Amino acid sequence: MKLDVDVLRYLSKDDFRVLTAVEMGMRNHEIVPSELIDRIACLKHGGTYKVLKNLLKHKLLHHDSSKYDGFRLTYLGYDFLAIKTMVNRGIFTGVGRQIGVGKESDIFEVAKEDGTVLAMKLHRLGRVSFRAVKSKRDYLRHRSSYSWLYLSRLAALKEFAFMKALEEHGFPVPNAVDCNRHCVIMSLVRGYPLVQVKQLPNPDVVFETIIGLVVRMAEHGLIHCDFNEFNIMIDDDEKITMIDFPQMVSVSHRNAKMYFDRDVECIFKFFRKRYNLSFEENEDESDDSEVDSEEVCRPRFSEIKKVSGLLDKKLAASGFTGKDQEDIERFIGEDVQKDSDSDGEGTEDEGYIADSTNESNIKDFGSKCSLRKEEDNPPDREIEHEAVEDTCM
Ligand code: ADP
Ligand code: MG
Repeated sequence: MKLDVDVLRYLSKDDFRVLTAVEMGMRNHEIVPSELIDRIACLKHGGTYKVLKNLLKHKLLHHDSSKYDGFRLTYLGYDFLAIKTMVNRGIFTGVGRQIGVGKESDIFEVAKEDGTVLAMKLHRLGRVSFRAVKSKRDYLRHRSSYSWLYLSRLAALKEFAFMKALEEHGFPVPNAVDCNRHCVIMSLVRGYPLVQVKQLPNPDVVFETIIGLVVRMAEHGLIHCDFNEFNIMIDDDEKITMIDFPQMVSVSHRNAKMYFDRDVECIFKFFRKRYNLSFEENEDESDDSEVDSEEVCRPRFSEIKKVSGLLDKKLAASGFTGKDQEDIERFIGEDVQKDSDSDGEGTEDEGYIADSTNESNIKDFGSKCSLRKEEDNPPDREIEHEAVEDTCM
C-alpha cells in the first residue's frame, strides 16, 4: 500500500479533528454515521461534510451508504493519525522509503530532526488473516466494527512491550522507542534478514548464537513463536538482531513445547539447507530416544532451566494486560503461520484492507518527506476528551 505522506503536510487541524472523530465513532459503529462524526468533531465553524469529502479524496476514509450515510477509517487514515501523533511527540520529523513488507505489516524508515534514522512498523492485521478475523468476529462482539484497528493496535502494543522487556534483559533486539495505535518506532537494524544471506564465514558460530537465544529466551519465560530466517537480522560482523514479536508466548502457554520445538526446528532446517551444516538425523523425536549427536545440541523444552524474575510475569506490568494477550492470541497466537509458508494470498477486499504485497513490490518513496510538528494541535487523546465532553456522549 502506498503511504503518500506528502498529503499529510496539506491536512489541516480540522481534517485531523474529523479523522479522529471517525476513529472514535468506530468504537461503536462499523460505519460511523455522518451526523455522529459531525457531533464528535464539533468544528468551531462547521464544515464537517466538506472535510469528510477531502479526507475521502485522499483515501483516508471509506464512504458507505448501503444502510445509512457514513464513513470508516482506512488503514491509510489510521496511519496518518499515528504518524501525526508521533510527529507531535517529537519522535520523528520525516518519513522515508519503505524498507520491509511483512506478512501483516509495512516497515518504513523515519528520520529525526538530527538526521538519525529509525524504523517505523505499521501493523496491518487482517491483511492475510482477514478471514480469520471475520470468522471470529463473534468473539469481539461490540468491538467487531473496529476489530482490525483494535487487533493491529494490540499487536503494536504487544510488540513494543516485548521488545522493551527483551532489550532490558540484554537480548539483541532493536531499541523500542515509542508506540501509538498500530505503529511501533524502533531503532533501525543495520543488516539483512538472514534469508537474504547466501554465505556466512562462520555458520556454525552463528547457528550456536541463534539457538542460544531461543534457549535464553525460554529461560526467561518466553518463546518467540515465529523464529526463523525472516525475523533474524545479521550484519557484516555476523552480529544477530531478533525482530518481530507480536506472536510471542509465555513458557507456561499450553502449547509452549510445540512452539519452542517449532522455533528450534526452523533454525536447524534453515542452517542445514542453506549453509550445509550437518546434524546427525534422528527421525524419532520422542524424549526417550537414543541420544545421538543432533540430540546433544538440540535443546529440549523439558530441560530449560527457568531463571528468576521471569520476563513474562514482568510484562504483565507493562500495560499489555492478560486480557490483551488473550484477545490477540485468538488471532495471531494460534493462527501464526511461518513467514516462509506464507503464500502472499490476498484478502477479501472490503475497501479497507491493504493490497496483498510481497518483497518484489517494495516501493521506494524517494526523498524524505518532512513533516510539521504542530504544538497547538493536541494529540488524539486530548481531542477525544474534549469532544466527548462537548457532545455529552
Ligand atoms: P512482520 O511481522 O510483518 O513479519 P517484521 O517485523 O518481520 O514484520 O518486518 C518485516 C521486514 O522489515 C523484516 O524482514 C526486515 O527486513 C524489515 N525490518 C523490520 N524491522 C526492522 C528494523 N528495526 N530495522 C531494519 N529493518 C527492519
Ligand atoms: Mg517477520
